[in-house]
Parts: sequence; structure tokens; C-alpha cells
Amino acid sequence: MARSRGGRRMGMKTDRSDILASLRNAGDYVSGQQLCERLGVSRTAVWKVIKQLKEEGYHIESVSNKGYLLVESPEDVLSEEEIASRLTTQWAGRKLYCRRETGSTNNDAKRCGEEGDPHGTVVVADMQNAGKGRRGRAWQTTPGTALSFSILLRPDFPAQRASMITLVMALAVAQAVEAALDGNTEDSAGQAAFAEEGIESRAEKASDPTVRIKWPNDIVVNRKKVCGMLTEMTMTPEMNEIQYLVVGVGINVNNESPLEFQEEIRDKATSLRIEKGCRLNRAALLQDVLCRFERHYQTFLETLTVSGLREAYQARLQGLDGEVRVLDPAGEYTGISRGINDRGELLVERENGERVAVYAGEVSVRGLYGYV
Ligand code: ATP
Repeated sequence: MARSRGGRRMGMKTDRSDILASLRNAGDYVSGQQLCERLGVSRTAVWKVIKQLKEEGYHIESVSNKGYLLVESPEDVLSEEEIASRLTTQWAGRKLYCRRETGSTNNDAKRCGEEGDPHGTVVVADMQNAGKGRRGRAWQTTPGTALSFSILLRPDFPAQRASMITLVMALAVAQAVEAALDGNTEDSAGQAAFAEEGIESRAEKASDPTVRIKWPNDIVVNRKKVCGMLTEMTMTPEMNEIQYLVVGVGINVNNESPLEFQEEIRDKATSLRIEKGCRLNRAALLQDVLCRFERHYQTFLETLTVSGLREAYQARLQGLDGEVRVLDPAGEYTGISRGINDRGELLVERENGERVAVYAGEVSVRGLYGYV
């Protein structure tokens, strides 16, 4: 499937993503000859790939003496080629499995962990039929609308640090969601990557959406949940170090109406499309999340704390300095949320003035009267 950097031919899929990436990055005509030389494949191979891409809905102009121009990509395809051709990361998603349907991408990524796939491997699925939330809860996905993916990590830090990774991902997703809703994020070709404008009027959603992180890792837009995450850790057989971590992310992207969510979550769930008023490109969103995650992960590794990310995280924290309910299995209590510490714990000031550092493991936080 993979191609070596030297250009050795190893598979059609790689050719397709390489050709797509070359066209996308050029933003201009690229000659067939250039593609052949750059990728080390024959002219017929290039021609075949272009033909296939056209059949799949890519609008590619072919002009003799000039070559090929990618005029437009299909609205929202979540294929391996589409994602790979956009990736600008060093390691996140460089090994990529793209599934039409699966049970849970976290389970798939754990299998990758067992089978020796490298750090940064990503499994993405158009549809999850057994998506998982924390503590055995279910995560609902609707086909063709959600961005569901899991990333496999092979860290060498101590297991006690692992719970902070979920905050690292939460910050990456929150920032990518902000950029997507602003519509000003650019892809590698310098084109607006997200908004497929013109499909619906933006005027319906006049006010700026507010993107918040509900500690530790739910992403909330206009007080409703657009994203959930689940981090799972597997220890070595000796139980003395982490064998691998899997961080799973589910984002409601292109659900058109709240009616697409099951009744029990309808009043607390939303999608980016509902909040923005137009469709978004999931492959571009995934690229942006992975890029930001890679950067934040590096920052995290420098101290093995979230100190370098705390300010950005806290600036987006839902309910900062407001009253929260802490649903601790040992007993529920209320207090004022005072942000997070360097270990990613939520600082809650109780009525008696005592400040407790809440560890994410078994605890959920809610607003006084509802989800936030
Ligand atoms: P917390 O992490 O604070 O306990 P949570 O209850 O939202 O929050 P998660 O494990 O993050 O728990 O997510 C699972 C929950 O999310 C489900 O119980 C359901 O209420 C809600 N949920 C499931 N699918 C979706 C979805 N597609 N969009 C929004 N919310 C969802």
C-alpha cells in the first residue's frame, strides 16, 4: 500500500493520494509528465487514476500541452485518498485505515496496537455502529455525517500521565472546530477548506458560535455537545508501562437537523452544520485536528503536564468561575469551577472555601441545571 520516499511503485491507493495531493498543492495545471516523474509511475497509470478520480466526482480539467487542473473536489468524501492527499502532519495519520462502516474505531485502533502498527496510526470510519462513550455509554453516529476516528499512540511516559492526553486532544478539536466554524482555515492549497458555501445561507446563523470545552473533553458549541472523546489505555503484560493508548473522537459534522439525533440526546446534541448553516468537509477537519494534536502533543511531552496548553484550554473552558455539579461516584457536590491545574485536574471551590482538584477518571461535571 505504501510508497517509499524514493518513488518505488507500491500501490494504486498511494498513487491516487499522491496525484490528488500534487494537483491540490499545485492549485494550477500540472503536466502528465511532471506527475510521472515526481511519482515514478507511467503515463498510463496517471491517466487511469485521473479517469477514476473524475468518475468519483472530482472535477479535473485536462488540457493538452498544459496537463491537469483540480477545479473542485466532491463535497464531502471521507476516503483514504482524500484524507491522505490533505495531510501535512509528521506522524499523525501517516498510517491510515479508512472504513465505510465499523463497530468502534477505538476497538479497531486497539487491534492496530496489538498488531504492531506505528505511533500515530489513525482509523477513520464513515459509520460506527457501536461507538463508545465513557463508562460503557454509547456514542451515536449517523452515516455520512459524523467524523469518527481514533489515533493510536505509543508513548513512553508513565501511565499516571495518560489521562492528560484527552485534554490535549480536546484543545486540538476545539480549535479546529472554531476554525471550521469561522470558515477561515486554509488547506495546503491555500483554498478555504471547510465551508462548502452556497449550499445553505449563512445568514440564518448570524451570531458567532461559542466553542467551549466541557471538562475534561466534551466539545460544546452554543451550549450543546458536538463532540465526545474516549481515551483507552493498554498496559504491557508486566503491567509496568503503557503498551499503547487509543484516543477516539466523534464529531457531529453534517447532521442537518436535531431530528437526526435519537430522542434522548436531541436537546443536548448539535452538529457543526446546524450551528454554521452549511456543510463542512470532514477530511479537511480531520487534517486540521491531527495537525493541531501533533503540535500540542509535542508541547505536552516537554513537561509531561498540560502547563504549556493550560492557558489556551482554560480560555475555552465551559463554566469557568461558574457553579458546577461534580458527579463523583463517592458523592455529588456543587462548587465554583476555578479552571484546571498543570495535571489537567479541574479545580473546584466548595462552599467551605476548600479547593478540590478533581481527577477525570470516574467523574462527570455538569452545569447546575443541565448538561452545561
Ligand atoms: P461526561 O464525559 O461529562 O460524563 P457525557 O455524559 O456526555 O459526559 P461521554 O462518555 O463523553 O459522556 O459520551 C456519551 C454520552 O454522550 C451519551 O451518554 C449521550 O448522552 C451523549 N451522546 C451520544 N451520542 C452523541 C452524539 N452523537 N452527540 C452528542 N451527544 C451524544
